[in-house]
Amino acid sequence: MPELPEVQTVVDDLKKAIVGATIVSFDSFWKKNVACGVQKFKKEVVGKKIEDIQRRAKFIIFKLEGDSVIILHLRMTGQLLLEKSISKSKKTTLLPKKKYIRHKWELKKNDEEYNLLFHDIRKFATVDWTDNIGNYKSFKKLGVEPFSDEFTVAKLAVILKSKRTIRSVLLDQQLIVGIGNIYVSEILFGAGIYPGRLADSLTKHEISELYEKIITILSRAITLRGTTFSDYRDSEGKIGGFQNFLKVYNKEGKQCEKRGCTEIIQKEALNQRSSFWCAECQKSIKNY
Ligand SMILES: [Zn+2]
Repeated sequence: MPELPEVQTVVDDLKKAIVGATIVSFDSFWKKNVACGVQKFKKEVVGKKIEDIQRRAKFIIFKLEGDSVIILHLRMTGQLLLEKSISKSKKTTLLPKKKYIRHKWELKKNDEEYNLLFHDIRKFATVDWTDNIGNYKSFKKLGVEPFSDEFTVAKLAVILKSKRTIRSVLLDQQLIVGIGNIYVSEILFGAGIYPGRLADSLTKHEISELYEKIITILSRAITLRGTTFSDYRDSEGKIGGFQNFLKVYNKEGKQCEKRGCTEIIQKEALNQRSSFWCAECQKSIKNY
C-alpha cells in the first residue's frame, strides 16, 4: 500500500509534468469509485486547467482553476500513470494490462497531449471532486503532517501520551499521517524501540531519536522514489528504490544488518498487522 513517500513521489512527478494542462476529457470504467458521480465529475472538470498538484496525508489533490479540486486516493493498488501521446494516431502504450485502467483523463498542455490513467487492480482507489475543500469530510480527522512546521519533538511527545503501543500510535492516521506498515517498522528499528512498547513509556531521549528517524527515513524514501514490493509504481510506471535499503521490513529470518549484531529479524503480529524487528537492536522492552 502506498505510504507518504510513494504518494509524494507521484505528486512531485505529476506536478512537473501536468500543472498548466487543461483537462480535455474524462472517462470512467469503474464508475462506482467516482464518489461525486461520473456525470457531475465530468461537468465540473472537463475544460478546466490544473493549477497545482498537492498532497494531504495520502490524498492527491489537483487544484483546478476556479477554486475547486479533484481528490484522488490510491488505496491498496492504485497507480496514476502518465502517458505522453505524440499524436492522436501514434500513442505510446505504457501498460500491458489495460483491463485494470479504471479511469482516464485526456490532457493538453501547449502542444503536448497526455493520457492520465488510473490503474488499479483491487478497485479500492477513489476519485472525487469538491468546491469546498475546507469542509471535505475525509480531511477532517487527519493528523499532523510529518513535514509540517507543526510537527516538532514537543508535538510528538504529546501524541505519545498514550497507553497504546508505539506502533499503533505511529500508524494512527488521526495522529500522524502517511506512515504505514513498511515505514513504521523501519523507523522503530532506526530508533532502537521495540514496536510493542507502550507509547507513554518512551524517555525524552527516545522521543528525540524517534522524531529524527521519522523525518530522515521518510525523507530518504522520498529521495529514492518510494518502496515497491508489488503494486507501487511512479507516474512513468517505474518501481521505487527504497526497497533496497530496508533494514527489517519483510526480512524475517535474515540476520540483522546492523554492524556487530548477530540476531535474526523477527516477525510478529501486533494489532493484526505484521511487525518486523530485531530483538537485540530493539531490546528496550526488557526494561518495561
Ligand atoms: Zn540487530
